[in-house]
Amino acid sequence: MITAISGINWGDEGKGRMVDLLSEDYDVVVRYQGGNNAGHTVVNEKGKFILNLLPSGILRENVVNVMGNGMVVDIKHLVEEMARLKEKGIKISPENLKISDKAVICMPYNVMQDCLEENRLADKKYGSTRRGIGPIYGDKYMKKAIRMGELFDLDLLESRLSDILDWKNLTLVNVYGAIPVTLSETMAHLKKYGEQLLPFICDTSLYLEKAAKENKKIMFEAQLGALRDIDFGIYPYTSSSNTIAAYAPIGGGIPNYKIDKSIGIMKAYSTCVGEGPFTAEYFGEKADALREAGGEYGAATGRPRRVGPFDVVASKYGIRMQGADEIALTKLDVLSSFPELEICVAYSLDGEEITDFPFSQKLPLCKPVLKKVKGWNTDIGGCRKKEDLPVEALNYIETLENLLGAKIKYVSVGAEREAYIVL
Ligand code: GDP
Ligand code: MG
Repeated sequence: MITAISGINWGDEGKGRMVDLLSEDYDVVVRYQGGNNAGHTVVNEKGKFILNLLPSGILRENVVNVMGNGMVVDIKHLVEEMARLKEKGIKISPENLKISDKAVICMPYNVMQDCLEENRLADKKYGSTRRGIGPIYGDKYMKKAIRMGELFDLDLLESRLSDILDWKNLTLVNVYGAIPVTLSETMAHLKKYGEQLLPFICDTSLYLEKAAKENKKIMFEAQLGALRDIDFGIYPYTSSSNTIAAYAPIGGGIPNYKIDKSIGIMKAYSTCVGEGPFTAEYFGEKADALREAGGEYGAATGRPRRVGPFDVVASKYGIRMQGADEIALTKLDVLSSFPELEICVAYSLDGEEITDFPFSQKLPLCKPVLKKVKGWNTDIGGCRKKEDLPVEALNYIETLENLLGAKIKYVSVGAEREAYIVL
């Protein structure tokens, strides 16, 4: 059984909390793209955790966690994240964490390049998390990246790195006027953190192949959402990797297997962090009220998230891109304090109402078409069964289902593991 959990919107839908919940029945959890720009918050009986690089299955003792070849790994960040979790009593060993030898290393100079470029762009910035993600994926496709497996042979690595730095410094120095990066400081970084990770690095593809053959249950965990996918998202305000479920077998390391089930995570309202068009965006007091109610501040960066009503046009597209067989609607409780709710049911573009998500460069011209619905205005955080939900909340869910042409299976009403309802 191979399942993918992915985001239907712009990210921060609560993928981490759903992986934490649903991984109870799984043997393996695999991250397949992205790096430490992810922020997956999980609240369970062990405490509250923010995971950037580690798969959310790390909090379950019987789950083996894989960091796939599609990921970009900041090794210092990973070592520190592992230490943070260990301090909180989470067991991490080569038995329950396996890092792909083919995952690429996100270097300090990639972080530097990311910051230099965002600064150069100034008010035209892309809203990068400044963690080097764009530059390292660029390097990967230019075939100028170092992979985790290269940490086993430092002599060979040093000679490759020397060539790469000759090339990278041309950009850092001549384009940005920065101080050149030295081979010795970069090697020292790789040695220091790489050494601590060696026991975890292996051919994870072989491991997964064996697990799949033994009928183990494998779950893929995405970072970000469909609208940040490099191909299908709101380019260029996307992430630099494919966030969609279809990429999971490739970035996870078993391209020869198919996904049996795609579970899409969709938020009960819209949030987006960073720059780019966000059609149904709220501003002013309306935005502040929703942001506060939902605690919408980036887990990885602390940045206030932009907020808006549920967006049917974007979500319908997200469901399609994820091929979602099942949908989890998260954070419904956040809407409890609003007597009236809005849903963005269409976009108005050039005098026409559209419901198919348009080409990215058309988005700034779109205006949201809003429909008002009655709120429930009562706390639903304690609801655990469909029958516990107020009729207005059920109506809200049903309205979304009708507009999306899709069924919602799970509803979450709190950040804690058990705060959910199966419809
Ligand atoms: P991810 O990046 O998709 O894993 O999502 P994040 O963890 O960045 O953002 C989701 C936030 O909402 C986290 O702080 C979660 O603890 C919190 N959360 C998740 N589900 C619920 C829910 O049903 N209700 C409330 N109030 N908070 C939730
Ligand atoms: Mg997040």
